[in-house]
Amino acid sequence: MSMDQRVFFSTNFQNTLAEQLNKLSCDRAMLITTHRQLTASHTQINDLKKYICAVFPNAVTHTPVSVTRSALAIAKDKRIDCVISIGGGSTTGLGKAISFNTGYPHIAIPTTYSGSESTPILGETSNGTKTTFTNPAVLPEIVIYDPNLVVSLPKHQTITSGLNALAHAIEALYGKNVNIKTTRLALDGITYFYNSLQKVANNPSDLAARELTLRGAWCCGAVLGHVGMALHHKLCHTLGGAYNLPHADTHAIILPHAIAFNRPFCEKALMPIKNIFNCLHPEIGLWNFICKLGAPTRLKDLGVTKANLIEVAENVIETRYWNPRPLTAKLVHQVLLNAWAGNPPEPFSDNFTSITGK
Ligand code: NAD
Repeated sequence: MSMDQRVFFSTNFQNTLAEQLNKLSCDRAMLITTHRQLTASHTQINDLKKYICAVFPNAVTHTPVSVTRSALAIAKDKRIDCVISIGGGSTTGLGKAISFNTGYPHIAIPTTYSGSESTPILGETSNGTKTTFTNPAVLPEIVIYDPNLVVSLPKHQTITSGLNALAHAIEALYGKNVNIKTTRLALDGITYFYNSLQKVANNPSDLAARELTLRGAWCCGAVLGHVGMALHHKLCHTLGGAYNLPHADTHAIILPHAIAFNRPFCEKALMPIKNIFNCLHPEIGLWNFICKLGAPTRLKDLGVTKANLIEVAENVIETRYWNPRPLTAKLVHQVLLNAWAGNPPEPFSDNFTSITGK
């Protein structure tokens, strides 16, 4: 497993950024951010203005192609030579799209735990449809993590973003093309978050713990880029795409249910989770962890109705998707019902009767 990327951890990202820009001989960078982070980003790069020739603050979730086009027009007009993204997965996504289309280097400075910065994956939306592709050229050349930048991440987002990252690593344990290296990386990522997420939820300014979460984010993103995901990610993407649900919240809610469902078919792969979470079953350890953090646990709180679940289950089954346990619409519906109600996770037997009678 190799990655053509340089990764830095720094408590003064400005110094590292200036060093890297000098090494690349870039002095016409385009800074990508969101409206919400524009003022903070301006302040943070105040001393680096001589390297920046354009600021584009319009990054939004799921990288709409129309937004990328507007950014590319400015990139061309300003004759940029590099892209710097400061923000979460949405901002990194736009940075990836610009870099991929122009060929200019991308320096990603992540401020959430989405892990997008360590994957060669880009998901883009056009006319309401999300298309995802993988290409080594999408991977940012340089990533700079600075724990100071994550201190402002609100508590709820800190927790759900951390669980979003955990979902990549846990599902990577039983992925189709898993190997010893990806498993080691996934377990490192899980352990980093297990040891630090509660600490940063309690004290957002705990820089030592914030750094551990960022190390976890890189590991969890890296395995996402190397191991094919399964039911959990399929459920989240189907739900998110159909009802425009908050990305990280959906992951936090679905994760223990998807793991419980798959566990009887990949007990061995999930065994290390029992040791890390010190529990009898991985899904119970996760469920306890999630409840203690105060993360969302009910799909119905995101505005999904009980009636929606049948359609979601059928859509999940419609496209062939690898999963350790064979899927049926009835079983997927049962998993969704449990997550919708916020019940403790269960593996479910293949012989149960759905409440819809189907
Ligand atoms: P996000 O980037 O959409 O950020 C949500 C909001 O939080 C934004 O307004 C942002 O400005 C703000 N924010 C981010 N960091 C902050 C901070 N430190 N302080 C204050 N506000 C902050 O959220 P996300 O969950 O990081 O990313 C979700 C997106 O990333 C989705 O589009 C998802 O598909 C994508 N993603 C892609 C990959 C990949 O490999 N391609 C992996 C994971 C996620």
